[in-house]
Order: sequence, then C-alpha cells, then structure tokens
Amino acid sequence: MDPEESFRIIEKQDVTPISNIDLRQLSEIYDEHDIYLSIYIPTASKEKMDLSSSYLTSRLRAIRKALPKDLAQSFESTMDLIGERLEWKPIHGERGRVIFASEPLGFLHVYRLGVDVDPFIALDTSPFLLPLAKLNDDYEDFGILLVDSQEARKYIIRSDIVTMKKGPSIDLMNKHKRGGMSQMRFNRLRRGSIEAFVDMVVEEIRSRGDWKEMRGLIIAGPGDAKKKVRDALPQEIRNIVIGLIDVEMDISPGDLLKKGKVVAAEDERKEEQAMAEQLREAVLKGLPVAYGAAEVKNALNIGKVRSLLILENTSIPGWICERCQFIKERTTPPKACPNCGGPTSIVDVVEELYELAQRSGAEVEFIKEHAFLESIGGIGALLRY
Ligand SMILES: [Zn+2]
Repeated sequence: MDPEESFRIIEKQDVTPISNIDLRQLSEIYDEHDIYLSIYIPTASKEKMDLSSSYLTSRLRAIRKALPKDLAQSFESTMDLIGERLEWKPIHGERGRVIFASEPLGFLHVYRLGVDVDPFIALDTSPFLLPLAKLNDDYEDFGILLVDSQEARKYIIRSDIVTMKKGPSIDLMNKHKRGGMSQMRFNRLRRGSIEAFVDMVVEEIRSRGDWKEMRGLIIAGPGDAKKKVRDALPQEIRNIVIGLIDVEMDISPGDLLKKGKVVAAEDERKEEQAMAEQLREAVLKGLPVAYGAAEVKNALNIGKVRSLLILENTSIPGWICERCQFIKERTTPPKACPNCGGPTSIVDVVEELYELAQRSGAEVEFIKEHAFLESIGGIGALLRY
C-alpha cells in the first residue's frame, strides 16, 4: 500500500520519543519494487558520525552496484531527496537519526532520536522497521514519582527524554509555626497533613490517564512517604508500580533517570522471560502456539496471533512476493511468485513477520535471550485460539 497523503512527509525538528512514531502506519506501507531507502545513523558524537559516514559510503557504493538498471534512477532521486540530511549536525539531545525515503512516492520521514542507534542502510520494498521496533521495546515509556511527605515531582521518561512536572506540595508546619504547641498535638496535626498530602498526590496521579500508556511507574524518595503513596493508589495503578527506590529529594534528574532505567530494564527482562516461558509451557501442554517462520506467518495472515516473540538479533533470509505477500524462508527467490506470478525480492523474513504482526494488531515482544526460543529458531507466537 502507498503511504497516505498526510503520512508522506514527516520531519521533526526536535528529538522524538520512539513511542510517538507510528510504527503501525509505517508497517502498512509497501511497494512491488525496492524503492524505499531506510537509513539509521548514530549522531551521539562526531566520532560516531564519521564512522557511520564511511560505513554509509561503502554500503551506498555496494547498493549502486547491485541495483538493477530500472531502479537506478529512482534510487538516485531518492538520494537527492534526502540531500544533506545525512550530514546535518545533531540537535541538542539527538543520539540517532532515522530516515525513510522514497522519491517516486514523495515520501520522506526524518526522526531524531534521544537513544543510540547502530548504523544501517537498506533498500527494500518497505521502510525497514526492525531496528526501530527493537528500540521501541527497549525504551518503553515509564514514569517516576519523586515524593516525600511534603512535595511531589513527576518525571515522565520517553526514550530517555525526561520531562518533569511539579506535583502537589504542602506547607507543613515548620519549627516557627509550632510555637507553644505540645509535641503530641504537633505530631497529630503533622500525621493528619501527611495523610492529606498523600491523598492529594494519589488523586493527581489517578486523574491523569498518562500512566495507562506506560510500562511502569517507579516511586522514589526518602523515608516512607513512597510506601504510603503506593499503598493508597487504586489497584489498577498499583499494578503498574515496578519498584520503589530510596533517593534524596535533591537528586539530579540525570541520576534519577539512571536509577529508574535500571529498575525499568529489570522489569522488562522479567516480562520477556515470562512471555518466553509462557510459550514454552504452551508447547508442552499443547495449547495454541506457532513456531518457525512458515507456521507463524500463516497464523499472522489469518489474524490468530496474540503475541509474536522474536529472539533479538534473529535474522532469517528468504524472499517475499510483493504482490500477494507470499513469504518463503531460506530459499533463493524464483523469478516469479508460484502463487500469483508477481515479482519477488530477497528479504529478512523476521522484518516481514514483524510488519505482518503490526498490521494485524498482534503484540510484539523482543526477547534478549531464552534457550527454548533459540532452539525453535528464534521465532514463536502465542495464538488467540
Ligand atoms: Zn505472489
């Protein structure tokens, strides 16, 4: 399918959280010919840019040599469309840049990311999304609530981009105000106001729906206010609390992010392992699963896949029919598709399965390592029925 008119040019001038990139809509796009150029460039330092620039130069030379004559012109005009964008100086906070382009379709997407990317370039029948999809999985959005008994701050972390919002604060009676009050009365009032403050914080979190889209919420701060807040949260929000961490209120946002990332990464690993284990158990118990590229593809085609599990760095060479989307792994492409006579091209089958999963609304999980998943070829799916 060609990109929709409103989806042809996307060029952001600021750093984009990966969750703002419409991977679903990108996965809908494909053509019968290799007219989509996908380029990933690290931009975190001049050194990295220079290194990737020499990689790109040699890859571009190789692509030009391998290109059939009829595609040479569209390739060169796509390179012209991209123009200087490969060399543009990184903007503040930019660590990686992703460019998808196809001049014949007037299609150009440029994303500046706050996370590291590996240099990569491919000319294909569709934008090559796998590296972006993996990053999206690695850097799922999470929130940190920094709270003590009188102040709350909320940090939202999206692909390493931190935004901070001041939450409620309360002016607890300080020493001056305490005046001639008895210690007991002071303690009672103080306890009451801490409870009232916790209620305020909880209400603030509850009233904002943004937590629903996050992988998790971390509650940080000194003392036991964080436990009080967690215990007062409604069940559905308490369920997404992935950790409590003990830090001082004056911790720098950078240090807080570092600590938060460790907790979030641990949680992600746990979730990955749980899903891979679910697949293994389903195989043992004869529950509906699919594994191996061919079986998984069939299940995706009829919309049966609930979750697609991909072992990271799995790559399965094969070919696809660009007309009927027939996929065959581990063979060289025939001139014409045996199904429909359409044109064929060499692909990474994993990328095609990922795109199919996106189109059919299946959940996709990348698994860092899992012996069983590896033993079945790195690809497996939990089915709906
Ligand atoms: Zn076909």
